[in-house]
Amino acid sequence: MSILCIKDPADLDRLLLEDTKIGQPEFEHIMRLLGLMWLYEGSPSPSRPHALLVSGKHSNGYLDVGSLVKEHEMVRWILAKSISDEIRRVMMAPVAGVFGADTSSTALAGDVAQMLGARHLVLRKEGDQQIWVPDQENLVTGQRVVQVEELMTTASSAEKAVNAIVAGNPGWDPSFFPIVWTIVDRHDPREPELWAQGRKVYSLFRYEISNFEPDDCPYCAGGSEALKPKENREIFFPGC
Ligand SMILES: [Zn+2]
Repeated sequence: MSILCIKDPADLDRLLLEDTKIGQPEFEHIMRLLGLMWLYEGSPSPSRPHALLVSGKHSNGYLDVGSLVKEHEMVRWILAKSISDEIRRVMMAPVAGVFGADTSSTALAGDVAQMLGARHLVLRKEGDQQIWVPDQENLVTGQRVVQVEELMTTASSAEKAVNAIVAGNPGWDPSFFPIVWTIVDRHDPREPELWAQGRKVYSLFRYEISNFEPDDCPYCAGGSEALKPKENREIFFPGC
């Protein structure tokens, strides 16, 4: 059964009962079909462009996991199931709350919370910061919370989310699960493995993608052109 062809919720129930998992090859297949993923093949060549990111940096890969979790509920649900299974496997005590950075990780955190029977702790993005949404019950000391993210390149936005949880719950003695889960870890292979405020980052899938400053880009040096993937879909995602 193709996961992309699920139309009836009963199909999803059946998939979950069958303990369906999306492995890295299936994930990659889905992402490519949806035009959300592209990886540079081979060494830099004038015949193949590389990616110009919104940040202005150049890259040998493009992964939009945010759009996947926001727009493809069924796939998100199955990925959330994998993450919640992993958390359940290693947790020593119940988890009281699940959170993820707004906006992309919010729905994923909501799904994982539901699966663990925990509260979804809601954050809101304001400018480049995360804030605790005030109209929700505060955490109390003794409650432990866990963070899930859809994609991590660095620990920066994960740490902002943690800071928002701490700032929004002044009466709570902070207690975080020692592992942060993410669907994709795409940290630069030239950098050490990801940790966020003393918590190790575990991912369902790992991609080694490097970003470069334009004046220090080996792909430009190799004659490859830097193009924006979203504006050049026919080149990056042929057939999508
Ligand atoms: Zn370049």
